[in-house]
Amino acid sequence: MNQIERISCLIIGSGPAGYTAAIYAARADMKPVMYQGMQPGGQLTTTNEVENFPGYPDGVTGPEMMLQLEAQAKRFETDIRSGFITKVDFSGPLHKCWTEDGHEIHADTVIISTGASAKYLGLESEQHYLKLGGGVSACAVCDGFFYRNQEVVIVGAGDSACEEAHYLSKLCTKVTMLVRRDEFRASKIMADRVKNTANIDILFNTETKEVLGDGQLVTGVRVINHQTNEESEIACTGFFVAIGHQPNTAIFKDYISLDETGYIQYAQPGTSKTNVAGVFVAGDAADKTYRQAITAAGTGCMAALDAERFLAAKGH
Ligand code: NDP
Repeated sequence: MNQIERISCLIIGSGPAGYTAAIYAARADMKPVMYQGMQPGGQLTTTNEVENFPGYPDGVTGPEMMLQLEAQAKRFETDIRSGFITKVDFSGPLHKCWTEDGHEIHADTVIISTGASAKYLGLESEQHYLKLGGGVSACAVCDGFFYRNQEVVIVGAGDSACEEAHYLSKLCTKVTMLVRRDEFRASKIMADRVKNTANIDILFNTETKEVLGDGQLVTGVRVINHQTNEESEIACTGFFVAIGHQPNTAIFKDYISLDETGYIQYAQPGTSKTNVAGVFVAGDAADKTYRQAITAAGTGCMAALDAERFLAAKGH
């Protein structure tokens, strides 16, 4: 396809935010085109069981839920394409976007639902058990429940790590927190809360060397204390990584206002509007606080409704 494609609504990204936006936009006859991105289905495809999304009383796996959302978006004839957008030009009234193979799209409205990616340590053993769903997670709220009455380890020292450690401490018998420096990055109040929780054990100056397991399931972690150079093993069934998220917003930075950590800033609170007219944002690309499938879906709905109103005001 060398010709420029002219459409009314482009949705970039295919997590709960993107699919919900697609369902609403398609039902409003906006004929949305969706590019699924690098990880079709988004972060939920790395989660096992989703038990907190209303409407699934028996739970559902993350990948299964995303297939259902995709089927629902297709039912209303969303044009869902694999591939990703690599470049945009939002300087004019028509929003220009290019795919990885150079196809050029001009859209009246764009809904950015590119999400965020959890950061991981990058250890081979960590990635092994993450891919197997064998006990590595980057989301305590999603997966903590599966480790009820068990012992877990969490890495990180920011507000997220403290919040998640505290959350886990209510479910698990013991939480060991690995802090790589001799102090927290988190705010004092959050750090104090974990320090004052009896079943949270904090190991400073400590980093993970290897996630241990039987090949299928995590059984512990080998750590090193930098000050003493001493290595030790901690038994656990769950290994949580809470070292931050990276919003997938780099391609928009020349046009869209981002905060200092790369999250898209809403131009008008209570809406999905960005600083560029006709470009809307939904889901984790603009959310460092809630990061839940249900909140992403809610903002996907808002973005489609805002895009529909934008088009209506222009007489489309
Ligand atoms: P941060 O970037 O604030 O913290 C990341 C933490 O992970 C740091 O302590 C960092 O260590 C540690 N870390 C990074 N890489 C590694 C590694 N390879 N090995 C071990 N540790 C590592 O991310 P957060 O997600 O915690 O927070 C992001 C933003 O969201 C912040 O602005 C935060 O305040 C905000 N937030 C607010 C909340 C609230 O107020 N309720 C809740 C959650 C987040 P080091 O300190 O050594 O760099």
